Amino acid sequence: MSQESVRPTNFIRNIIDQDLTSGKHTGVVTRFPPEPNGYLHIGHAKSICLNFGIGQDYQGQTNLRFDDTNPAKENIDFVHSIKSDVQWLGFEWAGDVRYSSNYFQQLFDFAVELIKSGKAFVCQLDAEQMREYRGSLTEAGTNSPWRDRSIEDNLDLFDRMRKGEFKEGSHSLRAKIDMASPNIKMRDPILYRIRFVEHHQTGNEWCIYPMYDFTHCISDAIEGITHSLCTLEFEDHRPLYDWVIDNISIEAHPQQIEFSRLNIEYTVMSKRKLATLVEDNLVDGWNDPRMPTIAGLRRRGYTPASLVEFCKRIGVTKQENMIEMSALESCIREDLNVAAPRAMAVLDPIKVIIENYPQDQVEQLTAPNHPNDETMGTRQVPFTREVCIDRADFREEANKKYKRLVIDKEVRLRNGYVIKALRCDKDDEGNVTTVYCTYDADTLGKKPSDGRSVKGVIHWVSASEGIPATVRLYDRLFTVANPASEEEFSDFINPESLITVTTAIVEPSLATAQGEAAYQFEREGYFCADNKDSTSDALVFNRTVGLRDTWANNV
Ligand code: ATP
Ligand code: MG
Repeated sequence: MSQESVRPTNFIRNIIDQDLTSGKHTGVVTRFPPEPNGYLHIGHAKSICLNFGIGQDYQGQTNLRFDDTNPAKENIDFVHSIKSDVQWLGFEWAGDVRYSSNYFQQLFDFAVELIKSGKAFVCQLDAEQMREYRGSLTEAGTNSPWRDRSIEDNLDLFDRMRKGEFKEGSHSLRAKIDMASPNIKMRDPILYRIRFVEHHQTGNEWCIYPMYDFTHCISDAIEGITHSLCTLEFEDHRPLYDWVIDNISIEAHPQQIEFSRLNIEYTVMSKRKLATLVEDNLVDGWNDPRMPTIAGLRRRGYTPASLVEFCKRIGVTKQENMIEMSALESCIREDLNVAAPRAMAVLDPIKVIIENYPQDQVEQLTAPNHPNDETMGTRQVPFTREVCIDRADFREEANKKYKRLVIDKEVRLRNGYVIKALRCDKDDEGNVTTVYCTYDADTLGKKPSDGRSVKGVIHWVSASEGIPATVRLYDRLFTVANPASEEEFSDFINPESLITVTTAIVEPSLATAQGEAAYQFEREGYFCADNKDSTSDALVFNRTVGLRDTWANNV
């Protein structure tokens, strides 16, 4: 397959192709413009893959620009997390990281230019009056009484706003467009407001901050962005985007193109809602493995390749949509099925004593790390007289469909011998505690020599050589498919979204598992080591995803 044919196609790439063919542009420059007011989520990954993917495929360039015009909500920790998430996904921005705040002086100068050409004015309506004058979807707005001040007065007042002479909310700079426009965004929108807030990049240099709609288009034009890609909610901002660029003396005119946001079932996808979960301690921070944040998915065991593949599969359109969680899960399952080494872990152990096996013997068995990939090598798994198996893998009696350990029947221990159950002990409540077995010494790596067939294979861990571990089983964070549509989305948190298993025992090769290292625990699912809990040195594994889609059977 040629490089060309594996490129995604979508309506945005079609527009770019036309612009290159027609000579409108000779190259492509895109940008990813996050606001540093939270961690990035998988919706942002869609935008990152789109923007950086286009930059790469067209040999163009993609900037990372922080859209930092709202210092009260932003901070430097978010700047750091966003940069590291973009890099972790595997993308490289062109040159230095950029900030809208780099352009505060230029933005101010363009605002002065608008005042001088009679296209902006200083308004003294307060927020409530402003709302009244704005009108509604069915009623035209009313001109501000301050709309016809002289250019000199406007210049003087804007300068004094900058110098900090006025209180927050008392004055604003507004564009003079059309209070009767059917598009409310065009009804003399605010360009600058007063905020006595320190900024993470510019400190206390400014006490007036430009609004998003004024800043974004000019920042795009300054950087020579050719195609400014954003989500559908900005569609009705586009006329304002174009108005600003058309009314200031700047060469470039980037084209804003909107696409639909990514939404995924059983989660929320807005930084504001995610911030609520963090602030109200409903999750364990922004990188809680149940969060749809990039940092959370990473800690859950998602790989960059799986997220990029997911973004490729969902594609880019203008259609509003809601993607099933299983679409994301199949991407990581497919990735890990190929890439993750196998290991054995028993989550709910019962003890098996092999009575005909020598008391203190430790035998190193050799197990392949991957059933279909010899290049992944082998490892040693210790076998001893006492091993642990999962409680669900033993029954005193069972019908033929149950291919695990049953009294008087045989089963194979994965990578090991065939054993036969003789009897079991139970506690006062009737729970099995110990199963007594014998093993057939002539079955290591081969079928029983007398030709009898043993169908079942179960996983196990040596009771004396295995290591205790904590295993966190994660499930969907919400019990409803679209929590954002509920009045109080946080009322719908799945109480079983995290189950902490403290009884697990894992094979000794996992003792050195490093954070984020992925494994398939045979017959259990995909897990990754978590080393974020510096408070203890106990082994912790997070379940990334089960071996198959269990939710599909439930519905
Ligand atoms: P949120 O509502 O989650 O805070 P946002 O749009 O305010 O999202 P920004 O930091 O402003 O977040 O977004 C940076 C870029 O990512 C924007 O171009 C935005 O359109 C895009 N983006 C944000 N959410 C999604 C999503 N769910 N799907 C696709 N793109 C998204
Ligand atoms: Mg935003």
